[in-house]
Amino acid sequence: MNLSGLNRMQKKAVETTEGPLLIIAGAGSGKTKVLTSRIAYLIDDCKVAPYNILAITFTNKAAKEMKERVDLAVGENAGKVWVSTFHSTCVRILRRYIDRIGYDNNFTIYDTEDQKSVIKEICKRFNIDTKMLKERSIMSAISKAKDELQAPADYELSVGGDYNGRRIAQVYREYQKQLRLNNALDFDDIIFKTVELFEKDDEVLNYYQEKFQYIMVDEYQDTNTSQFKLISLLADKYRNLCVVGDDDQSIYKFRGANITNILSFETTFDGAKVIKLEQNYRSTQTILNVANAVIKNNRGRKDKALWTENGEGDLVNFAQYDSGFTEAEGVVSMIAEKVRDGWDYNDIAILYRTNAQSRALEEKLLMRNIPYRIYGGVSFYQRKEIKDLLAYLKTIDNANDGQAVKRIINIPKRGIGDTTINNIQEYADNNEITFWDALTEIDSIDSIKRGAGKVKPFVDLIEKFRERLDDISLHELIEEILEETRYIDSLLEKEEREEVDARKDNINELISKIVSYEQTCKEEEVEPTLSGFLEEVALIADIDNLDESEKQVMLMTLHSAKGLEFPIVFMTGMEDGLFPSYMTITSDDPTEIEEERRLCYVGITRAKKELYLSAAKMRMIRGETQSCKVSRFIKEIPEEYLNIENNCTGYSNNKNISYGGDEDYSSGNKTNFRAVGKSILSAYGSGKTKEYESKRVPIGKSYSSSYGGNAYKSSYSSSA
Ligand code: ATP
Ligand code: MG
Repeated sequence: MNLSGLNRMQKKAVETTEGPLLIIAGAGSGKTKVLTSRIAYLIDDCKVAPYNILAITFTNKAAKEMKERVDLAVGENAGKVWVSTFHSTCVRILRRYIDRIGYDNNFTIYDTEDQKSVIKEICKRFNIDTKMLKERSIMSAISKAKDELQAPADYELSVGGDYNGRRIAQVYREYQKQLRLNNALDFDDIIFKTVELFEKDDEVLNYYQEKFQYIMVDEYQDTNTSQFKLISLLADKYRNLCVVGDDDQSIYKFRGANITNILSFETTFDGAKVIKLEQNYRSTQTILNVANAVIKNNRGRKDKALWTENGEGDLVNFAQYDSGFTEAEGVVSMIAEKVRDGWDYNDIAILYRTNAQSRALEEKLLMRNIPYRIYGGVSFYQRKEIKDLLAYLKTIDNANDGQAVKRIINIPKRGIGDTTINNIQEYADNNEITFWDALTEIDSIDSIKRGAGKVKPFVDLIEKFRERLDDISLHELIEEILEETRYIDSLLEKEEREEVDARKDNINELISKIVSYEQTCKEEEVEPTLSGFLEEVALIADIDNLDESEKQVMLMTLHSAKGLEFPIVFMTGMEDGLFPSYMTITSDDPTEIEEERRLCYVGITRAKKELYLSAAKMRMIRGETQSCKVSRFIKEIPEEYLNIENNCTGYSNNKNISYGGDEDYSSGNKTNFRAVGKSILSAYGSGKTKEYESKRVPIGKSYSSSYGGNAYKSSYSSSA
């Protein structure tokens, strides 16, 4: 194995194969590279058998990349190295040995929906009022308990006399019993049960301790308690455990990641060696200066500063645009320029805090025929909630699109099953009428009996919306659809809060899209119509436009960007309230803002050559234009590292950066932010400012967390 490409410290890290080793280093210093080289070194130079090596990565993508790199380095034997995520590692172990703790080896894995129905049934049996104690709170409490390795009895102890806590404990106990009866595991059980297996069965533990004599974990800063325990058990015999991480990149605290795992590694694993890597190979010095300047505002971190020999590089750009819309336009035209200069599309990534922000960017990219891909997520118009709402609009507009009608006939649930739908379709086919027309003649369909009573209210509802269209605007229509169908509530019955929050962000973004459409119509003095809107959307929602070639601009949330790198990075939406998120700004807990700052550091350090930061002065959220302050993270960057664009429209120089809005975030009063009341709407391009009365959204029932964050989750779960 030729280690000549590595620096002295990296080499030392590769060659320190025995005993516990912590490699703690800033972004881009070659941690992942060291892990990969280490695997190759162990096989090539130390003659370690590939099947004695376990490497754990954070995502499947990372596992795949690491496998490819190991393949390159050691060839055919690489296949025998276990390179996988915590979950796939554990599933593999459980498939073989879970019978030792009373499950069958062909266990099923329950998804959230399955979990939910078990919990629901238990609550019913225990007479738990799920309006007071929501199923999803119970589920999230159980999930948390499992991350912390608390079995029902431990959980019960931990809640003490707390009434709700005791009830949850009761449900938790019964829930585990039910899962066991059904030979099922939920997602969190996968690690939890593997730990249990190892703790209860010495033989199995011994087998895996012998098997995995060399263990490596990437992104160690984001491990939680159960993952930590798993690793400690496995490594207990040979103690050849090498973990790599960066405390400044810990961004999953809200999912139970425990930063003390990395900070206390040296005390937990006796005799541990620590290697720090300081040289960064990824970015220019200017990009690193920016990253250092931001992260140094966090307290309670190990002080370190990134440096590189890559040279100063260009200044980091900051541009403040008039609106989110012009921001997207600006970013996309800059990308076109970069490609004209010789860059490839796949050299470029656009990062954002919440998934909903992809909408405007996607539209502009499509308009310019720039190929793009959403990494770890689905493009805006393919997201479930957007497809559902568009299906409503299509059905209301003209119900010719039978697929649209069928999509929503039972969303939210109205008790209309597949058999009924098939019977209706059959009737429609036989009589050569549309599916919708068949619905309106439901009484004539002989095969439908009880179903008819359920179909009629649906038809009435759609017809009612059609009549309403004469009196209300399109964005009011969508609000009414949401309200009448209780769509959000129906999501909450099935999904976790974070997931629903991300979907609400998307719905709010759709509302903003409708309002922009209405505004454009007004400017062009044409009547906004539902058909007109749907036509406009059809032009951009057509996913087939996408070029399947490899060379695509990558769009992703900051969370999904962890571990990746791109020559050119755009970080958009750098506004207080968006990034850092509104919730963290108003939180009483100062560490929340620190987690956002680490996320910012992760974003900045993805860039190799060029970094473009941007913000909007006004952003439309749920159809309301709100003024935005420049992100505090931008203000933490010394001006000397920034190129503040001021010569083109839409930009402003530093003196003019609008710190706009007089909302007082520190008051913690959420209503302040929502009910901006009179927002200032700066007319795009004209430089004129006019005041208008914005529609107030009642807070109680509304979507006050439109900036709610936690969009990470939907990045892989809001599939269509
Ligand atoms: P992150 O914290 O973002 O996960 P990392 O510490 O894992 O970063 P790597 O992804 O391993 O860093 O490396 C960053 C980049 O630097 C990669 O392109 C890698 O190939 C390159 N690199 C690392 N070490 C060296 C070296 N000694 N010589 C040349 N290039 C290097
Ligand atoms: Mg890495």
